[in-house]
Amino acid sequence: MELVDIKGVGQKSEVLLNKLNIYNVEDLLEFYPYRYNIYKPVDLETSEENTSVTINALIESTPKLSYIKRNFNRLSFKALTSNLLINVTIFNRAFLYKNLEVGKNIMLVGKYNKQKNTFVASELKLGILTEPKIEPVYHIIKGLKNNQLSTYIEHALPERKNVTDYIPKEIVEKYNFLSKEEAIKMIHKPQTINQIKQAKIRLIYEEFFIFMLKINYLKNKNKEIEGTKKIFDVKKIENFIKKLPFALTKDQEIAVEECLKDLKSNKKMNRLLQGDVGSGKTMVATITMYANTVSGYQSALMAPTEILARQHYETIKNTLEPNQIHVGLLVGSQKKSEHKEIIEQLSKGEIDILIGTHALISEDVAFKNLGLVITDEQHRFGVNQRGNLQNKGVSPDTIYMSATPIPRTYALTIYQDMDTSIIKTKPNGRKEIKTFVKKESELKDVLLNILEEIKKGHQVYVVAPSIEENEERNVRDVNNLKSSFSTAFQNKVPIEVLHGKIKPKEKESIMNRFQTGKTKILIATTVIEVGVDVKNATTIVIFNAEMFGLATLHQLRGRVGRNDLDSYCYLISDYDSERLKVLENSNDGFYISEQDFLMRREGDLFGTKQSGDMVFKIADLKNDFKILLQAKEDTKIFLEKNKALEEKYKEILQSITNID
Ligand code: ADP
Ligand code: MG
Repeated sequence: MELVDIKGVGQKSEVLLNKLNIYNVEDLLEFYPYRYNIYKPVDLETSEENTSVTINALIESTPKLSYIKRNFNRLSFKALTSNLLINVTIFNRAFLYKNLEVGKNIMLVGKYNKQKNTFVASELKLGILTEPKIEPVYHIIKGLKNNQLSTYIEHALPERKNVTDYIPKEIVEKYNFLSKEEAIKMIHKPQTINQIKQAKIRLIYEEFFIFMLKINYLKNKNKEIEGTKKIFDVKKIENFIKKLPFALTKDQEIAVEECLKDLKSNKKMNRLLQGDVGSGKTMVATITMYANTVSGYQSALMAPTEILARQHYETIKNTLEPNQIHVGLLVGSQKKSEHKEIIEQLSKGEIDILIGTHALISEDVAFKNLGLVITDEQHRFGVNQRGNLQNKGVSPDTIYMSATPIPRTYALTIYQDMDTSIIKTKPNGRKEIKTFVKKESELKDVLLNILEEIKKGHQVYVVAPSIEENEERNVRDVNNLKSSFSTAFQNKVPIEVLHGKIKPKEKESIMNRFQTGKTKILIATTVIEVGVDVKNATTIVIFNAEMFGLATLHQLRGRVGRNDLDSYCYLISDYDSERLKVLENSNDGFYISEQDFLMRREGDLFGTKQSGDMVFKIADLKNDFKILLQAKEDTKIFLEKNKALEEKYKEILQSITNID
């Protein structure tokens, strides 16, 4: 069954659904609500004042519609509820006007003021609500209403029997889980809050089960693999390091030493290189790749985005080519002929180091003798992509570079069998980034400061959580910010917008114009360029900062402060300032991520998924950590007991390894 086969879904709505990453019925059924509206009618006489309540009422007077401003109108009428005749007001519902008349039953959500006998409603629905009603709320986009999406899902629900259930029977019994079929129904159409809870736990568990199954499977596989001893002259490496334009920091020295030791050993290297943005991880990686080249093997470095890949390519090429090392670049937007040539050179061994995006894992890419694989910002790849690249070498040594300072507790879970090198101190000459939490109402000051920086010839990043206007969530979007900023600076400052949906070629030229200083302000979403290095950028402004984890904000902040100029970060938010203040007071990524972990918010049922480390549909690494631990143990036992796996598990695991 295709999306368009669902009742009500036409081609237009299919396009909108695609925008939400919904491409088939299964995606639709697994597009879970992120919260619920709960309507439970109360008696106004006995209910608490000034809290939002739901009531049933009967319209008693002909509604009056008045326009206050062009986009601002008010409906008012008298209504009877319990034994009270109240004055009801609701704003911006002119479109309801023609449906309302004396004698009609309605349901209202709003606040009652006893003294004035007024009820200011935030919602009005026709009809009587006899039982409590739970209404799912989805993350939606412009053009697609919540109840539309809800209806599509309802029409797709009969198909839920075809959605694969991955939790093994014995585990379903052990925890008394719902079946997947039941869980999907309950998450979308719950009758009670308890049903939501039950469905949630089961769906979260399943996501973690699959996730940990992959990780544990890879770990088992890794243990079986013998490594290759790399032989190189240490003197040569030392000489190379001496010729660098700067001395390595102590932490870098140690990290290099650890990486080189792993290269030399016949154990397969499996190392996590952790360090704040700008701490010098890439330099450590470069030196290790140099040693790997000297020992006669090829290296690959995979970055999560094309811009990052190109940036790595430029710096690494500049550092290594004077040493007669051939560095190549492979990205999706290259011409076919270019692509072909690189692949040929690669298979002949003419390229020593290949840098690229996930284009590196496409099937036609064959190395002559891949000995080292480095993945940058590794948490942004699925486990899937990691595995594939590894299989391109016999048993290449692997390094994962991560700028997310992962709290120890959960690093130990996910990277359990990895050795870690941590770079704690940054190279000298780096100043702390001065950080300020500001309210939207203080924006003017921020703009003035931005103007100052631009006058000094510096550049500015502006980050917003979404690309387009969003009806459900009232957050800033990049397009709207572009026009606000243009107006504020009277179109005199060159501003550009960058986000994930822009074509790679176009992205590249936008980034180029920023890198070369033509563009002064770059307004972007976060999904894009973690790790971009524009030294002249001194200010970053992040809107709706409350939407992001502290670790993410800290990482974003790392876009600035890349030279010895004073740098600034403004976190714009009307909420959550207590949490955000952690960033005002600290520049220590590890401390910040621990705080983030500790201050996690309960209650927001599904959290904000789009700015996380790993992408889950319903599970949350932090909030659901206990379930993750459970899934970790269960998958270990499951893999031990089931040497011959069922087809559905093989299918998932196939994507992480080419070995049957
Ligand atoms: P990361 O990969 O951790 O984000 P990079 O390796 O890209 O950090 O380093 C950030 C910047 O600092 C680069 O411009 C790099 O040349 C520079 N750098 C790296 N190591 C040192 C050092 N020991 N001393 C001075 N500058 C350094
Ligand atoms: Mg980096």
